[in-house]
Amino acid sequence: MIKVAVNGYGTIGKRVASAVTLQPDMSLIGVSKTSPNFEAYQAQKAGLNIYVTNDSLKEFEEAGIKIKGTLDEMFKEADVIVDATPNGVGAQYKQVYSSMGKKALFQGGEKSNVAEVSFSALCNYDEALGKQFVRVVSCNTTGLLRTLCTINKVSRLQKVRATIVRRAADPKETKKGPINSLVPDPASIPSHHAKDVNTVIKDLDIVTMAVVAPTTLMHVHLLDITLSSQVSREDILNALMNTPRILLVSGKSKVGSTAEIIEVARDMGRNRNDLYELVVFEDSVSVKGNEAFLMYAVHQESIVVPENIDAIRAVSGFKEGLKSMEVTNTAMGIRK
Ligand code: NAD
Repeated sequence: MIKVAVNGYGTIGKRVASAVTLQPDMSLIGVSKTSPNFEAYQAQKAGLNIYVTNDSLKEFEEAGIKIKGTLDEMFKEADVIVDATPNGVGAQYKQVYSSMGKKALFQGGEKSNVAEVSFSALCNYDEALGKQFVRVVSCNTTGLLRTLCTINKVSRLQKVRATIVRRAADPKETKKGPINSLVPDPASIPSHHAKDVNTVIKDLDIVTMAVVAPTTLMHVHLLDITLSSQVSREDILNALMNTPRILLVSGKSKVGSTAEIIEVARDMGRNRNDLYELVVFEDSVSVKGNEAFLMYAVHQESIVVPENIDAIRAVSGFKEGLKSMEVTNTAMGIRK
């Protein structure tokens, strides 16, 4: 059993912790909490071990939350630490993990040089094998890479131009905006997403542009991909259909928006309404000569969760990436 600790129990951390408890080859040592808030109560209710810093022990005790130990004690017990602390905080913990000789995963909000490898299960699982520090790329980059590595198998990618419509905030975030405006980022072309894709597909010619939209549900990407040969629409659709963690929805089924996609997740009874799969709008898939076009939606809160689980296996030395994805998917109820 791979012993996993989760440092940072927020949007990503709590989902990774839940996913770890479902895996047949992993056990969850516990999770860290910085304040005795509703998430700490829920973690306690779920029977998770909660670890805190020395100076907050008293605060948690006073709030009636049972503490298993300190952060250092949690790190010591773990084979792999999943760091899901806010942007930039993970880099501060790296020294601690390093001094304890622990393997750690960081998230996409950290700079890529925090780790030896930036990770996407479909694209470069093997590169993370046995590594000490791996960074799971952000939600947007995970969506881009899952798509690009799939289409690259149909015909080699020559050039990618992508527009990213970013959700303004996660549903629980009350202080972010905008609430009534579309905000383009004209000063940042390419947006940082292109650079991030290049941490995994090193020599790809990719330009991304981003606009922030007043929604909390999902991101939407619009892609124009130039390929090295002519392909048919069917080729692209078949590749998408036959790739794990990619779903297609069509106008016929009346799933044509992020609102309806999240409703499908609710109807499926998914934990926290999560959709770990990339959701492609099938009607958008089109080709013109050697150019392919498509639109898809990315559930920002959950798409990186199965990626973290595969990265845990990769750093632990489990050699078969596709097998890891299959085990993760089965455990988490991801159908393909
Ligand atoms: P979050 O704010 O929801 O959660 C972070 C958690 O870390 C909070 O519970 C916070 O209390 C805790 N924390 C803060 N300082 C800490 C410290 N010093 N030690 C331990 N815990 C501490 O953030 P998030 O959205 O889960 O983001 C975490 C990482 O995942 C970031 O790198 C982010 O860029 C990345 N990410 C986020 C999303 C998303 O949509 N939310 C998607 C993909 C990747």
